[in-house]
Amino acid sequence: MKKAVKRMLDTIEDEVHYTRSLIGKDALDPRVMTAMGKVPREQFVPPNLRPLAYDNGPLPIGHGQTISQPYIVALMTDLLQLQPEHAVLEVGTGSGYQTAVLAQLARKVYTIELVSELGEDSAERLRALDYTNIEYRIGNGYAGWPEHAPYDGIIVTAAAAHIPPALVEQLRPGGRLVIPVGLPYMHQELMLVEKDAGGGTHTRDILGVAFVPLRQEQDRRADTSTLH
Ligand code: SAH
Repeated sequence: MKKAVKRMLDTIEDEVHYTRSLIGKDALDPRVMTAMGKVPREQFVPPNLRPLAYDNGPLPIGHGQTISQPYIVALMTDLLQLQPEHAVLEVGTGSGYQTAVLAQLARKVYTIELVSELGEDSAERLRALDYTNIEYRIGNGYAGWPEHAPYDGIIVTAAAAHIPPALVEQLRPGGRLVIPVGLPYMHQELMLVEKDAGGGTHTRDILGVAFVPLRQEQDRRADTSTLH
């Protein structure tokens, strides 16, 4: 393993340890850490930022968006408790980095991005890296992707003002939704919604986070298209 990747994994482990009282564990699932170690993060950042690719911080990816911090990607993935037979929905493809991590742990990843340039670039990048179990869509993820529901896990990588009802509906009983909720660029809380066998939901706060906002313009829905 490259030295920089090992350093990133060590930093994630340290941060998990520092935040153990909030997240309720002292180590993440080893399968999640293995997946984090395999994805070449330098391929998902702009070329001029490659020297920083394995630092534990977010980086700009254009269109005012960011690739999320590795610790947060690892933590959100861990919270989903993915199994190899699972289908997972991701809202906010962005760079496709989180998508690649999910693709190693689940049977199928469905990912939606509102900004068509970002979604198209990520689809191309992930295909070039030989990820074959991902389906891409350009559109407003606030409404989810009903055609493939229900999902075992749903992850939202932009901050919503409230939990989108369509996403809770599209969750399978026993499924988990991980989503940052709060005001744009202000205090946001990473939340975990669990749906029980009877369809009831249980929500808990995990920790404070800072994400770009989940955009909700209704007119963007007209853009919805599946990429081939
Ligand atoms: N997981 C990504 C995070 C990108 S930032 C990564 O690590 O690279 C969040 C992304 O959500 C941005 O690309 C933004 O364009 C997208 N986004 C914002 N609102 C959205 C919406 N309503 N539907 C789908 N994508 C949205």
